Amino acid sequence: MNRRDFMKISGAAAGLALIPVCNVAVAADVPLTAEDPQAKALGYVAQSTVAGSNCANCAQAKGDVKALGCNLFPGKQVSATGWCKVWSKKP
Ligand code: SF4
Repeated sequence: MNRRDFMKISGAAAGLALIPVCNVAVAADVPLTAEDPQAKALGYVAQSTVAGSNCANCAQAKGDVKALGCNLFPGKQVSATGWCKVWSKKP
């Protein structure tokens, strides 16, 4: 095995070692509720009443629609149909 092969294998092994850590972080996300103090402050609701505006098409949303995250609520999942005062259209 030459140095280049060793580096390729080492890099792949390091990447694989991180996958379980990432999965644990996603699994630890809990649904955001309207009772959460920060959610209350931002007027978060699980069902948007503003036509055409919801978490699924918000610039702050991240991840898959089935387990949508939000930059404002780390470690929490927001509803794809949700909304808060910070909503801005995804570019
Ligand atoms: S910032 Fe956007 S994605 Fe986050 S809760 Fe508000 S509307 Fe939803």
